[in-house]
Amino acid sequence: MTTSQVGSEDFRHILTQTRSFVRTSVVPREQEIMDADAIPDDIRDAAKAMGLFGYAIPQEWGGLGLDLTQDVDLAMELGYTSLALRSMFGTNNGIAGQVLVAFGTDEQKSTWLERIASGEVVASFALTEPGAGSDPAGLRSQAIQTDDGWIINGEKRFITNAPLADLFVVFARTRPADADGTGIAVFLVPADASGVQVGAKDRKMGQEGAWTADVHFADVRVPHSALVGGSEDVGYRAAMSSLARGRVHIAALSVGAAQRALDESVNYAATATQGGTTIGEFQLVQAMLADQQAGVMAGRSLVREAARAWVSGEDRRIAPSVAKLFCTEMVGKVADLAVQIHGGSGYMRDVPVERIYRDVRLLRLYEGTSEIQRLIIGRGLIKQALH
Ligand SMILES: Cc1cc2nc3c(=O)[nH]c(=O)nc-3n(C[C@H](O)[C@H](O)[C@H](O)COP(=O)(O)OP(=O)(O)OC[C@H]3O[C@@H](n4cnc5c(N)ncnc54)[C@H](O)[C@@H]3O)c2cc1C
Repeated sequence: MTTSQVGSEDFRHILTQTRSFVRTSVVPREQEIMDADAIPDDIRDAAKAMGLFGYAIPQEWGGLGLDLTQDVDLAMELGYTSLALRSMFGTNNGIAGQVLVAFGTDEQKSTWLERIASGEVVASFALTEPGAGSDPAGLRSQAIQTDDGWIINGEKRFITNAPLADLFVVFARTRPADADGTGIAVFLVPADASGVQVGAKDRKMGQEGAWTADVHFADVRVPHSALVGGSEDVGYRAAMSSLARGRVHIAALSVGAAQRALDESVNYAATATQGGTTIGEFQLVQAMLADQQAGVMAGRSLVREAARAWVSGEDRRIAPSVAKLFCTEMVGKVADLAVQIHGGSGYMRDVPVERIYRDVRLLRLYEGTSEIQRLIIGRGLIKQALH
């Protein structure tokens, strides 16, 4: 969504409802989610009922129709708990859903978007391959045109929600890169199409309850209508624009997680004692809290500015990368300080900051590593200077 379809009053209601859902229904069950490596069905159903599977999908397709300035405020609430909650509907609203919203044909939108927005369909974004993560232009999955459609072959890895997916948004090469472009197109492949094989769930460092897996496409046949936008040339552009938008969202999620780590730290520092003194009275502990607070506030402002610049169209390249770089690195430091403030307790599995420390490590890796964000920012600045 570029333009919001939700007035400020209605949005305030959505935000209040989401905050209450996160803090009263999900926060108390974080341990359960972690132990079961799954989001309980009643939480999934509640999220569906609240429209969270489609908050960034336009209202004509059954979504809530939030724009990115609203999306980031929502994401800051969602980041306050197990990041697996957001991941459950993150691909529908974000990287996968936005490819359809921005580049799909009317027919593709009417076939899929309503079901994506309601949560009936889980959509996954299948770009990364072995050897083609930071450099997706080097992907090797192939789509060959036939009289009645396309045949897709390839190997994707680390695909979020793959074990639950009903639809894969699959990037594949229709020709070698040439002067006209990367040769990458994007296809809508139902998960039950013959030849689609989803591997075993990956065993990850954190974000228990959010699942990823390899996906193998072996002679998968799809009709002509599966080619997104009806054009072989939109694939790479669709991936880059969906990822850039997603970066602002991930930055906001980082701010939410950092706020939680800070709140846990303040609570602990205000109650735990050493030698009869509350640890929050030690100035070195106060200094850690101060650094956390400064990071959270700077991140929040940056995210809102990047979202504003996205919606106005002023900056859809450098600002998203700046926000992602700063906020994901910031939450890494804030989570690390939170563990430090908790002392030995911070290393124990039943303490929220231990989970946050592991959960947020991913944010610096996916949707472009910190190194890739630096390259985008640096390259963008030089390009501007040369024009
Ligand atoms: C839990 C999880 C969920 C994911 N979900 C999805 C998903 O839903 N869909 C999807 O398509 N992908 C997904 N990914 C993949 C993710 O986007 C990639 O892992 C990420 O982009 C990094 O690519 P890579 O793993 O191939 O690492 P590499 O690109 O091999 O990076 C290794 C190191 O080299 C550095 N590096 C690489 N290229 C350069 C360069 N040109 N200059 C300087 N440094 C460089 C990197 O910054 C990094 O430090 C997911 C990954 C994880 C771990």
